[in-house]
Amino acid sequence: MKKQRPLIFEISKEGRRAYRLPALDVEPVPVEKLVPKEYLADSLPDLPNLSELEVVRHYTNLSKLNYGIDSGYYPLGSCTMKYNPKLNEWAARLPGFANLHPHQLYGSVQGLLKLLYELDGMLCEIAGMNKFTLQPAAGAHGELTGIMIIRKYHEDHGEGHRNIIIVPDSAHGTNPATAAMAGYEILEIKSDSRGLVDVEELRKAVNENVAGLMLTNPNTLGLFEKDIKEIAEIVHGVGGLLYYDGANANAILGHARPGDMGFDVVHFNLHKTFSTPHGGGGPGAGPVGVVEKLKEYLPTPTIEWDEVEDFYYWNYDIPYSIGRMKDFYGHVGVLIRAYTYILTLGGDGLYEASTKAVLNANYLSQKLKDKYNLPKDTICKHEFVLAGLKNPGDGVITLDVAKRLMDFGYHPPTVYFPLIIDQALMIEPTETESKETLDGFVEAMNKIADEAISNPEMLKTAPHGTPIGRPDETLAARKPVLSYKKPEEKL
Ligand SMILES: *Cc1c(COP(=O)(O)O)cnc(C)c1O
Repeated sequence: MKKQRPLIFEISKEGRRAYRLPALDVEPVPVEKLVPKEYLADSLPDLPNLSELEVVRHYTNLSKLNYGIDSGYYPLGSCTMKYNPKLNEWAARLPGFANLHPHQLYGSVQGLLKLLYELDGMLCEIAGMNKFTLQPAAGAHGELTGIMIIRKYHEDHGEGHRNIIIVPDSAHGTNPATAAMAGYEILEIKSDSRGLVDVEELRKAVNENVAGLMLTNPNTLGLFEKDIKEIAEIVHGVGGLLYYDGANANAILGHARPGDMGFDVVHFNLHKTFSTPHGGGGPGAGPVGVVEKLKEYLPTPTIEWDEVEDFYYWNYDIPYSIGRMKDFYGHVGVLIRAYTYILTLGGDGLYEASTKAVLNANYLSQKLKDKYNLPKDTICKHEFVLAGLKNPGDGVITLDVAKRLMDFGYHPPTVYFPLIIDQALMIEPTETESKETLDGFVEAMNKIADEAISNPEMLKTAPHGTPIGRPDETLAARKPVLSYKKPEEKL
């Protein structure tokens, strides 16, 4: 632990209070009359004794330890950490939305239903799809929804024997995990020297047992799969369907549409591409869109509009539906923010956002390639992947570079992903950063590269300015210790 502020138990003083109730002027009601005995504890847990100011400082200081897009540059590859306009927050907090109850009859929530119905329509237009469900809570949840739709479609067409989902080796881990959860075997296709799907390998691999292919385009190297039409033909040729992992959609808005590329099912990560806050595990939203022939498989209910009565309603009558995937309306706050974002930018604005995201990524990749390996030195889309330091000095690795970046006030890029690049640093600048910010980042990255040679220990012991430096990340994720323990009861 470094630079650790005293924690609340350590500054606790017996008997100190933030607030005291006045003494009762009547006989108190015996508490046992209000709460059944079995719910009463004999004693209180050992709570810190603090003044109100100390409590305020404690939480304020804790909040400052949290790094977010509103506090600094956040080039976390594949996560599209773009600015979340505060206008979106205003819209999501409007009392007419925020105070709705999920059990309200739909006659009394027409405004919200209209918004959701219109969002469905906008996403259809952006994706080239026919109908969306807004239920899924995140990208991975969207994947499961989409793959279940594909499975049900095959089953209902007497093709239940199809048991394989093809996934390229550049795929995000959620893709094979999703397919496995839905009961499929995974067939991995290697990328070729271009970093793209090896089309000849794919051609050899497909057969009548293939249920579908999951693909991210541009892929996780930030490269556009330009053979996508041929890939679609090959998969469709054996009766399989194509699933589009839309996590990288920020590269293509208004430029290209998954539907036109030949995809049958699409998810978008609204918390990435459509500018709603994320990090820390949610909430997000991963709406799933499908082509016409898969509409009847969407989760129930979908939102429909009665044109004659001008009335929005939930449609539970979906003959082949896979069933409900999420309670109530999905993550409505996120949906309202995405809707606001799309309306604010409009079609031209979305097109421009992607154009600039791509420009920024290419600018950065070219600026960083002097001191870092850039294995795919071609025009990239919205992100690119470096393969560690050109001169790693005395064994400086990507983790050390990432940790040292924190000392310069930057959130590190995604590291060690995609798996096919050794020492990977996956950088996604996004469109909302200025040239000055990008230049500042380049300067820090170059300084770190020089330090790797002049002072490698500085990197290997980084970060130097955070309370915790190098936790066991697996343990921290699997068994997080979420509350402070007094020193004598440390885990
Ligand atoms: C983020 C991401 C996912 C998963 O999305 P979540 O919203 O985090 O569940 C899937 N694929 C790719 C390529 C991603 O970047």
